[in-house]
Amino acid sequence: MITEVMPTYARAPLAFVKGEGSWLIDETGRYFLDAGGGIAVAALGHAHPKLVEVLTSQAQQVWHTSNLYRVPNQERLASMLVERSFADSVFFANSGAEAGEAAIKMARRYWHAKGQSERHRIITLSGSFHGRTLAMISATGSPYLTEGFAPLTPGFMQVAPGDLEAARQALDEHAAALFVEPILGEGGIIALEDDYLKGLRRLCDESGALLIVDEVQCGMGRTGRLFAHEWAGISPDIMTIAKGIGGGFPLAACLATEAVASAMTAGSHGSTYGGNPLACAVGAAVLEIVGDPQFLDGVRHRSAIFRQGLESLVATRPSVFESVRGSGLMLGLVCRVPNGELIQMGHEEGILMVAGGQNVVRLLPPLNMSQDELGEVVQRIDRAASRLEASRHA
Ligand code: PLP
Repeated sequence: MITEVMPTYARAPLAFVKGEGSWLIDETGRYFLDAGGGIAVAALGHAHPKLVEVLTSQAQQVWHTSNLYRVPNQERLASMLVERSFADSVFFANSGAEAGEAAIKMARRYWHAKGQSERHRIITLSGSFHGRTLAMISATGSPYLTEGFAPLTPGFMQVAPGDLEAARQALDEHAAALFVEPILGEGGIIALEDDYLKGLRRLCDESGALLIVDEVQCGMGRTGRLFAHEWAGISPDIMTIAKGIGGGFPLAACLATEAVASAMTAGSHGSTYGGNPLACAVGAAVLEIVGDPQFLDGVRHRSAIFRQGLESLVATRPSVFESVRGSGLMLGLVCRVPNGELIQMGHEEGILMVAGGQNVVRLLPPLNMSQDELGEVVQRIDRAASRLEASRHA
């Protein structure tokens, strides 16, 4: 018999009822160290006092008014994002996929406003992930996302990551935009080289196509810079963010330059909940903390030590691990055993991790996880790996 909750996830048999900083507590009272951060969402851990205060105080004022009216919290968060990024204007949504949809609509509308509607094709990278709406699964075209959902949305084309020549050929007179994750998250923590990203920016400039970066997973301080594309010294035309910006409250945004955003006139796009007063109150509090240069210095410092610990772990357990990759606190352990088995053993050791493509285990801990806790993450993974080795040799 089907479960009442539709079985679209292969869920672990764990249920958490409380969160405290970097820890989650299950219904039996067991503590788990959260190295997955709810898939890069809990940027400041669980029940952060400032976020709890801001959310409860807004809850006592007003929850929802709709986008028929000005939303002061939205205006404040938009101006904070504009101040800290390449962008001039922000559209608010509720999820990463919706922000991606807004980005694609914006890119097409930009060309439409120029009288060049034939420039509608969006180029993406094979193996990337942009969400689960029909357009977003069509964007990446991966069979594991699209199977059974045909007909797919037309107008997308994939090229291999790292292949500048393929991108150059794809960016023809029909190309509206290139849509890339600076670090492929679901795909298995594959960081695009700075030179490749610079090359993509150059190719877009030459062809006129827009560059859209999807920073839903790698943005909001995750790599130790506020946005991951900053490492390559490039500036996109459009950017999507979600996950970390709400710290656990649903919030997403699509940011754009004035040249692009100007095509989005009244009535061209919308969302009932997008930029809701509760979500934007939390978003502004998260950005105030994460956007502080000292906080980002701390992320870079702690993540460098954490990575060394993981490198040693890989060196001491070569039968379980192949390598570490990624950036900042967006790291992947490439496994030699099935990644799901290591994650399951991690549960025995009270540590939460997330599976990724290419047999990777993703580590996406809260950005404010302490150095001691990050050390504890390494130790618990080591114990999980040791259990796994023992069970495989038994
Ligand atoms: N883009 C990237 C890079 C993601 O990692 C995700 C989710 O994992 C999404 C988009 C979709 O976000 P959401 O699940 O909030 O729709």
